Amino acid sequence: MFKKLVLSSLVLTSSLIGASEVNIYSTRHYDTDKKLFKMFEEKTGIKVNVVKAKASALINRIKNEGEKSPADILITADAARLYKAKSEGLFQTINSDVLMNNIPSELRDEDKQWFGLTKRSRVTVYKIGTGIENELSTYEDLANPKFNGMIMVRSSNNAYNQSLLAAIIAHHGEEYALKWAKGVVANMAMQPKGNDRYQVKAIANGVGKIAIANTYYIGKMVDNKDKSEAQAVKKVKIFFPKFENGGTHINISGAGVIKTAPNKENAIKFLEYMASEEAQKLFAEGNFEYPVLKGVKTSELVSSWGDFQEDNISINTLGKNNAKAVKIFDLAGWK
Ligand code: FE
Repeated sequence: MFKKLVLSSLVLTSSLIGASEVNIYSTRHYDTDKKLFKMFEEKTGIKVNVVKAKASALINRIKNEGEKSPADILITADAARLYKAKSEGLFQTINSDVLMNNIPSELRDEDKQWFGLTKRSRVTVYKIGTGIENELSTYEDLANPKFNGMIMVRSSNNAYNQSLLAAIIAHHGEEYALKWAKGVVANMAMQPKGNDRYQVKAIANGVGKIAIANTYYIGKMVDNKDKSEAQAVKKVKIFFPKFENGGTHINISGAGVIKTAPNKENAIKFLEYMASEEAQKLFAEGNFEYPVLKGVKTSELVSSWGDFQEDNISINTLGKNNAKAVKIFDLAGWK
């Protein structure tokens, strides 16, 4: 009884002074993040409270909570969502030498309001033994009628696809992007359905021949306790496409500090930790992502997929072109 009282008054005190916690709103659903939060807690003594939901729900929640929002940080996957959160006025500018030094400029916001913490590329995946890999080349070429009935890709309301189309727009303009999206729709093996893993499982099972997916999902499928995923992924391989005048499409998970953050100092400490060597290693090893910090190695499995040249389009551009991409997907009839 006495213990309980002491504990609750401690909790009360710490929440009153607000000095020893940080409130994270996150769309990421990976075990690696849980581990990272724990490591941060142990290192700093700052308690991490997490609210998990989809990006649009979290953005609305922060807006509805207004001035009194407990949110210190928003973490989301995909550049366009970070851009959206920024354009809705959710973030504040953060001046941190650690973040400036550790995160390359093309992977963070021009106004220092959000920061890329990990990278992933969006690639094609093919079934081993079909010979289709000899036909694969650029992203542009996925609209080539020679791939009729072969492409497995998720729906256009998915942010990863929107950012891919945003990159096409950046490289070639809107008119070309519409033609491209129509071409890919015409080549689809079926109406879009399911997530990235679903597309990979489909081609492993002979539905379609080319899947579009983010790299880390391949790693997560290899590493999965679910035997059907581990079996399926043995039958496929990654091919890194390029843009005709660029490299392989890169996207990020990233975060920003909320304008009304009640624990701003802790929030900055948290972001700096996420960009540190220790955290970057865990992103790479635990979630099969590409670290943003130079010098940190990718996991052995990720390295085995081979090297590729990253596209030169800034992550900032993906967000700026997002609204156009959504409209073009609609016009192209990409469900
Ligand atoms: Fe994802």
